[in-house]
Amino acid sequence: MKNIAHQLFHLLLMSFSVIFLWISLPAAIGAQTRASFTSGPVTAERGERASGMIAVPAAANDDGTTIPISVIHGSHPGAVLALIAGNHGYEYTSIIALQRLLNQLDAKKISGTVIMVHVANMPSFLKRTIYYSPVDGKNLNRVYPGKSDGTLSERIAYQITKEVIERADYLIDLHCGDGNESLRPYSYWDAYTGGPAVVEKSKQLALAFGLDHIVIDRERPADPAKSLYCSTTATTRGKPAITTEAGGLGMTDEDSIARIERGVINVMRHLKMIDGAPQMVEHPIFIDRNQVLRSEVTGIFYPLVERGHSVAKGTLLGYVTDFAGKKSSEIRAPFNGAVLYILGTPPVSKDEPLAMIGHISETER
Ligand SMILES: [Zn+2]
Repeated sequence: MKNIAHQLFHLLLMSFSVIFLWISLPAAIGAQTRASFTSGPVTAERGERASGMIAVPAAANDDGTTIPISVIHGSHPGAVLALIAGNHGYEYTSIIALQRLLNQLDAKKISGTVIMVHVANMPSFLKRTIYYSPVDGKNLNRVYPGKSDGTLSERIAYQITKEVIERADYLIDLHCGDGNESLRPYSYWDAYTGGPAVVEKSKQLALAFGLDHIVIDRERPADPAKSLYCSTTATTRGKPAITTEAGGLGMTDEDSIARIERGVINVMRHLKMIDGAPQMVEHPIFIDRNQVLRSEVTGIFYPLVERGHSVAKGTLLGYVTDFAGKKSSEIRAPFNGAVLYILGTPPVSKDEPLAMIGHISETER
């Protein structure tokens, strides 16, 4: 009796493993090992790369736009990594870094696939606007996952969500200080959305990208239908993601561009998409609390500290004057911390950011 039960148990176990293999095999040889990979109108064959434009068709109130993308489809199976530049069109370092990376990365030596969005926000890029689209006045990085029948920014977000984010396994949203922001490099680690496994993998992406200041962000939305941010659109869909910041003030400085290139290459090593051992940040500086200081008034801003400075609680960071030069408002550090960014150009409108201060965590994470 015992023997028969034992045999039956084994038979059952075997049939379970066969069923399990039968179910899991097709998933394991999914998109990444396909002969070709398609994003929007762009198809790259295995071991090749291809570039093209996703069309955002015209609507009642605008003429539409295009989103330039490239797909590098590696010779070997592996992860799909989405790299997004230019959600803010005046942030140039990541746009230039992707141009350089496209020529550096050899599809024949890659395991997996890279999808690059070269300029997410083409209207803002071509019209040189900070924060907001010149067409609908919206901040593209606050309207994800977008709408198929929305305003132009919403339709751009919709296309990027559908054609890029939903096809990727991992995402890096590459930013820098906007055209008016003087910024020290840092990344955002979303320590909240997507559940513990996604949160941990996102942290590893931040450590692999190599910027030693890492803002712990617990205020991103958890609802995938109202993800607002590009990277949160990924995490709320179960895909690890980070937002990175290097560069600013409308510049294309070599130091920032090289940082972004190194970051992407190192993340690709970490994800085993290219050969080589990844170098993780050895001693990360976690920012456990941060505050964006907004202006109470419209006027002309005078900064008194620089990006990266350490400031004590109460330190005068800068002031705003009216247009005749009379001081109308001051901003002070709300706690001891580091200046992550501060406005580097004079114009300021009421309620817009003047600076961001990060409090440095005392403990390892
Ligand atoms: Zn940005």
